[in-house]
Amino acid sequence: MEGKYANIIVDISHEKVDRPFQYKIPEPLREKIGAGSCVRVPFGAGNKEIKGYVIEITDRAEFDTEKLKEISAIEEGAVSARANAIRLAWWMKTTYGSTMINALKTVLPVKKETKRLEKKTVKRLVDKSEAVLLCEQAKAKRQTARYRLLKELTEAEELPFALVSGKLHISSSTITAMEKQKIIEVQRENYYRNPVKIKGQQTEKKRLSPGQQNIVDTVLSDYEKGNTGTYLIHGITGSGKTEVYMGMIEGMVQKKKACIVLIPEIALTYQTLLRFYKRFGDRVSVMNSTLSKGERFDQFERAEKGDIDVIIGPRSALFTPFQRIGLILIDEEHEGSYKSETMPKYHARETAEEIARMHGASVVLGSATPSMEAYYRARHGEYRLFTLKERLTGGTLPAVHTVDLREELKSGNRSIFSVKLKELLQERLERKEQSMLFLNRRGYAGFVSCRACGLVMKCPHCDISLSEHKGGRLVCHYCGYEQPSVKQCPSCGSKYILGFRAGTEQVEELLKKEFPEARVLRMDADTTRKKESYEEILSAFANQEADILVGTQMIVKGHDFPNVTLVGILAADLSLAANDYRAGERTFQLLTQAAGRAGRGELPGEVVIQTYQPGHYSIIHAANQDYEAFYEAEEAYREMLLYPPAAHMMAVQITAAEENRGEKLAEMLSEKIKAEQKNIAEEGEAKAAVIGPAKAGIGRINDMFRYVFYVKARQYTQLIRIKDELEEVLFDMQLKRETVQFDFDPIHAF
Ligand code: ADP
Ligand code: ZN
Ligand code: ZN
Repeated sequence: MEGKYANIIVDISHEKVDRPFQYKIPEPLREKIGAGSCVRVPFGAGNKEIKGYVIEITDRAEFDTEKLKEISAIEEGAVSARANAIRLAWWMKTTYGSTMINALKTVLPVKKETKRLEKKTVKRLVDKSEAVLLCEQAKAKRQTARYRLLKELTEAEELPFALVSGKLHISSSTITAMEKQKIIEVQRENYYRNPVKIKGQQTEKKRLSPGQQNIVDTVLSDYEKGNTGTYLIHGITGSGKTEVYMGMIEGMVQKKKACIVLIPEIALTYQTLLRFYKRFGDRVSVMNSTLSKGERFDQFERAEKGDIDVIIGPRSALFTPFQRIGLILIDEEHEGSYKSETMPKYHARETAEEIARMHGASVVLGSATPSMEAYYRARHGEYRLFTLKERLTGGTLPAVHTVDLREELKSGNRSIFSVKLKELLQERLERKEQSMLFLNRRGYAGFVSCRACGLVMKCPHCDISLSEHKGGRLVCHYCGYEQPSVKQCPSCGSKYILGFRAGTEQVEELLKKEFPEARVLRMDADTTRKKESYEEILSAFANQEADILVGTQMIVKGHDFPNVTLVGILAADLSLAANDYRAGERTFQLLTQAAGRAGRGELPGEVVIQTYQPGHYSIIHAANQDYEAFYEAEEAYREMLLYPPAAHMMAVQITAAEENRGEKLAEMLSEKIKAEQKNIAEEGEAKAAVIGPAKAGIGRINDMFRYVFYVKARQYTQLIRIKDELEEVLFDMQLKRETVQFDFDPIHAF
């Protein structure tokens, strides 16, 4: 691009310099520099040379040209940051409130020189029929690891070593032994870092059902007509969504368009990846947190060069710099991990839509329990909705029993296992089938509830569960409302009104007491601190090394366990009483997912949901597996209290080194908005509401004090305007010891 001046963002993460600076482009560089170039520029009084990104080339000088400095050089070796990425960063900055540098760091791959890695591959040396034979022998001898590996090797001639040792979980001693017997060979080569390498076995395509085919055809033909947009596939697990994704990807690849497939990291199982590899061979690549920075960068480079067509990965795979994207797929779109927890706090769904707009691409979302946001948009005609109702894998839906824990208490059972659950657990132990017990602690924050009538203490203003604090006060983390703790239930008068405490460790102990013969495995944040232990525990359970698996929400994802015929949800109330407005939605999702774990194989499954609130709509509709009924009820609630998606909400999160300064800042900022909204209201426009400020859910981390307030408005643009105004105020204040972050339509508690 020709032009005399470049507007440049410099690489210093500080609000003071978070605006473009203009530089002159020296004559010899003019042809080489464009939006997205990485350059070196003199900066500040000392003219220290630093890195910067060009966001715009222009012929118009903004200052006295005499005073403008010149670009020193083009940064050699650096990726020329693509103009699209820069535009995207700008969009993120303005939409989510963040510095430009943080936005750029999110969207641009960083070049890090790392040494070329050695590529290891496990290759089968025997022919296929012999492998089948050996596989059967291993099965008969109960050599489970050997069996697992041989089973995969009957289908594929070679497998990446990382998959064999990682997801398949085969130990090095097994591999060495099999190498000695000349069944396999481990090949080592210096390779352009490609984490995927499975050669030459295209699996047969499934003939799609009419419902599946219709989705693929509609999305592809809409695309052909330039009629792109966002689609939502609502389909239970096993209804064939992944098969549909692959059909669409194939169509796009034929059109020479690239596809991005987002899958939450926890659901990126070996089985899922293998299905993609087998279908698309080395045109597909994967991105996940186990890749080194170098490998990650190589994936980006391969995508940019057009060496791959498909990338699979979590949220960050969105920023893969393909030249021409045709389709972005987001599986399990309701997952909280699609929202970034650091600045910019972007949501992958909206960001995907923005990227799709730039490329003229389409976005396809899939879920068994769509987020309220996605379903709301589908209902209001913004997204096109498809529904897949049948499970293609066979297996019947499990029978669900809801147990009323208030009744258990009345009849004298104070154990955390109801009579029904004990009975069914006993049955499973006798029949040598497996059970999973699930304690949904996500979002759990010390709420108080009545064991006799189920009442949960809630904020009278926000309808959010109050959290119990030391010193016996009950606090709302939205608006700051406080009241003393109660000794008696305000509804039924019972004195069994208590804080709810239960941990997986405790459950494990009680199980051992109740069923001394049972083999129990536990999975929670404590037992999975090491990266592999998550897979280890799941593999052990899959190999039937235990009868009962106890765990937090981590156990409801990933692996299929055909021998699991009972799932127990110990206290559905835990997530129901989480102190944010998504509690009902999360509970419905967790219960549906957990229930879906029972009866995956040939044996029919049963589910027990234990709760003090059997009448709550999230529980009733989850037990009936009725998404639409749940959606209707939840939408009414969101409409009534103006929570997203009925409206939009911005959290303003303040962190301060000194308590009183943090509190004052929160007061000052929120008062400013309140005053302004009052004027607006007088002019007759729709008003934004300010809630709080309050001490954050976690009031203090690392000796930094945290405050939050919320702004609710019908229109997102209203919130952006308010954010921009706050940013200006903050810019003038030049705060050093306080930070302010914005979170739009928050998912993660602050
Ligand atoms: P989801 O992604 O919705 O959980 P999958 O695409 O994984 O569903 O499909 C579930 C199972 O059904 C898989 O084993 C898949 O191979 C199989 N399947 C999907 N579509 C078909 C089809 N049209 N014909 C036969 N089997 C299918
Ligand atoms: Zn009560
Ligand atoms: Zn409140």
